Amino acid sequence: MEKAIFDKIEIMQGDITKLDVDAIVNAANRSLLGGGGVDGAIHRAAGPELLEECRKLGGCNTGEAKITKGYNLKAGHVIHTVGPVYRGKPEESRLLSQCYFNSMQLASQNNLKSIAFPAISCGVYGYPVKDACKIAIDTICRFLEEKTGSVTKVIFILFSSKDYDIYEKYLKEISEAQAVVRK
Ligand code: ADP
Repeated sequence: MEKAIFDKIEIMQGDITKLDVDAIVNAANRSLLGGGGVDGAIHRAAGPELLEECRKLGGCNTGEAKITKGYNLKAGHVIHTVGPVYRGKPEESRLLSQCYFNSMQLASQNNLKSIAFPAISCGVYGYPVKDACKIAIDTICRFLEEKTGSVTKVIFILFSSKDYDIYEKYLKEISEAQAVVRK
């Protein structure tokens, strides 16, 4: 893997609704009509027009993604994706990976440069953060490696310091492993 790929990835701790990026990703539910957690926070910060636009989208299947404007957010767009509810079944990892891949694809199709992801499925949907973190980072690395899209900055933003540490550690691990391979 090229070192340049890791230069495009950043891990942060904080509130996704505050970010000034081209798109923030929402861990939505299939109705796309709002909910708790990060979904609720995004709708509160974006204002009622976001819900109005979401109503026109007709929901979203698990693993898929849909884009709207960002309204009162600093972010220009919101990419809504629906993660799997964690029950420990093998297909859940594939669906979670699709959330990241399809969000990146939508960002590219809309010529967006910067995108921020929360820890999709890791709240109410119960996905273990360590497993979800690997899926998230591996999928983004694969996308950046395979596609020459518009995205030059991918931020993973974690609410808790515990989750932040897990992401930091894994990114360090794989970038160091790659550095050894390149020597
Ligand atoms: P899901 O239903 O997909 O599990 P949740 O919203 O319950 O979605 O949680 C997803 C993750 O988003 C959790 O790790 C939660 O701590 C985090 N989160 C909640 N609010 C915010 C926020 N404002 N900014 C960033 N992350 C957030």
